[in-house]
Amino acid sequence: MRIVLLGAPGSGKGTQAALLKDHFEIPHISTGDLLRQAVADATPLGMKAKAIMDRGELVPDDVMLNLIEERLSSADVKPGFILDGYPRNLAQAEALEALLGKLGQPIEEAVMIEVSEDRVVERIAKRAAEEGRSDDTEDVVRNRMRVYEEQTAPVAGFYEDQGLLTRVLGEGSIEEVSARIRGALNTDGSD
Ligand code: AMP
Repeated sequence: MRIVLLGAPGSGKGTQAALLKDHFEIPHISTGDLLRQAVADATPLGMKAKAIMDRGELVPDDVMLNLIEERLSSADVKPGFILDGYPRNLAQAEALEALLGKLGQPIEEAVMIEVSEDRVVERIAKRAAEEGRSDDTEDVVRNRMRVYEEQTAPVAGFYEDQGLLTRVLGEGSIEEVSARIRGALNTDGSD
């Protein structure tokens, strides 16, 4: 199962991707996590990405494509994967399509987690208190929301045009949202 998870910052994407990982036993690939690890390791990529992330902007597409291409060429993604945070604009969506087409492993499902703006602000404030992410400050969050609306929201249309998109309500408990996503993926089974 090859899945793309879409949703605004604070929509619960990362939490839900982690649950799907356990459910389907396939890797959860978060480009945000990969970048934060590169920053923590002070690699050349991390040094380049940190300032951009701290402004809430997008790391350049060519850099991201290299990162995702490398990750998707690992053996553990053979049974499938959950992408969280990539693609983030239409150029990335097209690059991913070309890359996966080459590998003969196209995206099968795109799930958009929809939440109200109030809920997003609430969740990010909670995450800021719990995790202390340097890009969860108010100004940067506002910028990430703007970048999301302008660049990332259109990615839903890209998958909708291919008949791959399902929209899921992201309000309610974590387990309720998770059950909705599994239902949308038509593999809910009996659990
Ligand atoms: P996230 O954890 O997905 O919210 O990502 C945190 C930050 O990492 C974003 O605000 C961007 O600066 C950067 N980032 C993550 N994924 C991407 C991507 N696909 N393209 C560009 N920048 C990204």
